Amino acid sequence: MTTGTVVGGGPNGLAAAITLARAGVETTLLEAGDTVGGGVRSFEAIVPGLIHDHCAAIHPMAVGSPFLRSLNLERHGLRWLSAELECVHPLDDGSAGVLRRSVEDTARGLGPDGAAWRALFGRPVRNFDKIGPSMLGPLLRMPRHPLALAGFGAPTPLPAAALARAFRTPQARGLWGGVAAHAFRPLHEPMSSAIGKGMLTAGHAFGWQVAEGGSGAIAAALAAELLALGGRIETGVTVGAGDLPASDVTLFDLDPAQVARIVGDRMPPRIRRAFSGFRRGPGAFKVDFAVEDGVPWTNPDARRSSTVHLGGEFAEVAATERAITAGRMPERPFVLVGQQYLADPSRSAGDVHPIWSYAHVPHGYTGDATEAIIAQIERFAPGFRNRIIGTAVCTTTEMSRYNANFVGGDINTGSKDPLQLVFGPRITLQPYDTGVPGMYLCSAATPPGPAAHGMCGYHAATRALARM
Ligand SMILES: Cc1cc2nc3c(=O)[nH]c(=O)nc-3n(C[C@H](O)[C@H](O)[C@H](O)COP(=O)(O)OP(=O)(O)OC[C@H]3O[C@@H](n4cnc5c(N)ncnc54)[C@H](O)[C@@H]3O)c2cc1C
Repeated sequence: MTTGTVVGGGPNGLAAAITLARAGVETTLLEAGDTVGGGVRSFEAIVPGLIHDHCAAIHPMAVGSPFLRSLNLERHGLRWLSAELECVHPLDDGSAGVLRRSVEDTARGLGPDGAAWRALFGRPVRNFDKIGPSMLGPLLRMPRHPLALAGFGAPTPLPAAALARAFRTPQARGLWGGVAAHAFRPLHEPMSSAIGKGMLTAGHAFGWQVAEGGSGAIAAALAAELLALGGRIETGVTVGAGDLPASDVTLFDLDPAQVARIVGDRMPPRIRRAFSGFRRGPGAFKVDFAVEDGVPWTNPDARRSSTVHLGGEFAEVAATERAITAGRMPERPFVLVGQQYLADPSRSAGDVHPIWSYAHVPHGYTGDATEAIIAQIERFAPGFRNRIIGTAVCTTTEMSRYNANFVGGDINTGSKDPLQLVFGPRITLQPYDTGVPGMYLCSAATPPGPAAHGMCGYHAATRALARM
């Protein structure tokens, strides 16, 4: 029987292993941590019963993932839940840009900018079933529905700052800037709108949903599917150079530089150099809070939304993203706040609620951003500080210790500059190939990039199966 090994059990590793096992390959997944999941794990901390997401929290890309949808993970207990509102971007005057599930409701709320919002998202959202597989696939493949994809893709090469000019109000511009900032790139750079556009399109189509009981439920459901297909999972196994078990096919859900170290001189020198020189993105500094009675946002919509983006007007968000990319810590960093408990009350303990947050910081930032995060929340929710019962802090160093893929706190698994976003670690039409027969890269370092969609794993394993 053909044998397969997957190294790393994040959503992409699990998706790759499931794809192999579905094709009848005898598959073993090796994971360094005590549990599988990588960026989709949850933990109970600060107060008994309070459930926090270690990393990924909000899941437009997982819910919209053609691969995850094909698995019917609800059979393994996965349930998606929505808050009343998807995302709110408050401003200093108490107003906010509000993302609602439907394009129409969002457009109506954006007043004079409603028409521009409709023009950008109306058609791609209606066509999501046609464009989703291409949008979440290798970006340079011939699409099956080129016309539908053109409606989504035409503005994608543009800088986020250029798209922002389509909007007149600070609310719409701020809302767009906060979502575009998920790219961790300067917003004046070409293609800096691609990740935000994808998140908004999938978000309108499926909602910015959370997993009941914590994002760890996604990993648990994927692991259950793999085991049901006869796959094996070994945790607590860190694969290093010389540790690779003999296998007909091996997929790495890892940072490319780590793959270069493990595979060593079996890789063609040119590819090994490209993997070793993989460019990193800025970092995330994460703080989880236990908060009595939730966050006292000035803007009432922010009290009803699972996600709140804090960075003020578009120009301020753009300045923070430019600073962190240049290695400078801004005084007021861009901060993302998750209130998953609004969709999933089972994560709270009575009146004490888990608040998830992280700040965008320079790569490998060694300072403590806790106070900057609290100050940024206080700016839009005076009195927040007095409601904090406890915190759990994860610095950029701890982030990379927790998961070797998040080097220097780089939670996107590599800089998503135009070249790496389109191609992955090297310029090629086969972004999953490592140059070694039978060995493939399947992590978020490859297209379509970060998020808990599992599509990198699915495409890499499909490529591996096709070549076997
Ligand atoms: C703070 C934070 C917030 C985020 N928010 C969101 C969000 O809201 N929504 C969203 O969709 N995404 C979010 N993400 C991004 C998302 O988590 C990642 O893009 C996704 O997990 C990448 O999946 P992956 O399978 O490529 O790799 P990972 O999830 O990074 O998994 C890689 C796995 O490989 C293991 N590993 C590493 N080295 C070895 C080795 N040598 N041997 C064996 N195992 C090894 C690691 O332990 C890890 O389990 C967030 C990430 C972070 C950190």
